[in-house]
Order: sequence, then C-alpha cells, then structure tokens
Amino acid sequence: MPNHQSTIPHNLSLVRSRIMRAAARAGRDPNEITLVAVTKTHPWATIEAALAAGQLDFGENRPEEAHRKFVEEQPDGITPEPRLHLIGPIQSRKAKIALACQPVLIHSIDRLKIARKLSGGAQEQGRVLDILFEINVSGEASKHGFSPDQLRAALPELLALPALRPRGLMTIPPYDPDPETARPYFQALRDLRDELAAAYPSADWSQLSIGMSHDFEVAIEEGATIVRVGSAIFGQRNQ
Ligand SMILES: *Cc1c(COP(=O)(O)O)cnc(C)c1O
Repeated sequence: MPNHQSTIPHNLSLVRSRIMRAAARAGRDPNEITLVAVTKTHPWATIEAALAAGQLDFGENRPEEAHRKFVEEQPDGITPEPRLHLIGPIQSRKAKIALACQPVLIHSIDRLKIARKLSGGAQEQGRVLDILFEINVSGEASKHGFSPDQLRAALPELLALPALRPRGLMTIPPYDPDPETARPYFQALRDLRDELAAAYPSADWSQLSIGMSHDFEVAIEEGATIVRVGSAIFGQRNQ
C-alpha cells in the first residue's frame, strides 16, 4: 500500500484549511474553489476513505484506470456518488472509454482531434461534455496542451462542436519545488482566459484549473477555481 488510509481524513482537513486560508488572503470566497482529490495509482479503498471524509470530487489521469475504479469497482448506488474528473491526456483510441467513465469535467482537451472525437461520441449518446482546454503556457516540448496561438486559431471550430461545453482553461506549469516559480504561468493563463472571455463572451470561461500539491495556495491567490491535489492528501506515489 502506498499510503495509510487512516491519515486521509487528517490530510484532507489540512488541505481544506490551507485552501480556506489562501482564499482569505486573496479576499476570495472559498466556496468558489473546488478541491479535486487526485487518486491515480491508488486503490478504490482510498477513494472510499476520502468519500467517508466528505470528499466528492476525484481526479484520474488515465481513462482505463478511471473506468476500472469509478465504473467497475465502484459499488452500485453508493451515496454520495463520487464525481470523476479526467485530468490527463486522452489518446484518440481511448475516447470511448473516457466517455464511458461519465466524467463531470474533462480538464485536458489538448488538441482539435480529440475534441472532435469526444464531441462526436458524446453527440451519439445525446450528451454534452463539460471540458477545459489545456494550455502549454511554458512552451516546454514535453508538455501537453495548446499553445495560446494554437488555441486562438482553433477556437472557432472548437466552440462550434455540438457536444462539448467549454468551461475554462487548465495548465500544468514546469515543475519546480518553489511554488513561486509557478505564479507567472498561472498569471499568464488567467490573462489568456480574460482575453478569450472578452473575445467570446457567449462561452463560459469561468473555470481555471491550476494548482497541485506543492503550489495550490499560489494558484488560489492567482484565481484558481479548481485545484488538483494528490500527494498532499494520499501520500507520495511510487509511480
Ligand atoms: C498527478 C496529477 C496531479 C496531482 O499531483 P500532486 O503533485 O500529487 O498533487 C494534478 N494534476 C494532474 C494533471 C496530475 O496528473
């Protein structure tokens, strides 16, 4: 076991109080910030322990792993029902399984091809998918996401896709243990969001999914409405 389930309620309450304090510092309402508990690599029992501690939103970065836990292993009819967020890149051949997970939000639409594929699949099922566009704000080759210019160019087509409902933007800045290093990337994402909201006012640009275990407080100061926190709640992953 990569973690001790007994520490989960304690870690969750620590993270929640850090969110409250960061929101207070920034003069923001903590109720407008959603904590997504990232459970990748952790077993279903971990999710149950977090649910029992009042956590509702969960994040997974691989569609198959999400499906195994949140569809196959999740008992029928549990209340409250966990809300699944898909936060990792989705390969075209994984679009079907991603849809079968019934995610409340896909954070990681990083190219036109997957947007078209998911919209087509959702339309066949008569559903509309809430999504965020993932932006590569640092320009690092290893990072997924649209560059700001690629997104600007693709937006007319993206916004016309019938079964995707954009809600905002997501980014993962280059990793640095010092959370202050992330601040300019978070600011750049917020500026891009403000620009797009002015250019396309009929779409919803309200959500900014920024901030992970080591930098979520800085993210909240810079406008995060969703933080994606794994190791600060569930301990270090061995993968
Ligand atoms: C794993 C992951 C996280 C959580 O990372 P921690 O550093 O463990 O908080 C957040 N976002 C994405 C996209 C991830 O893949």
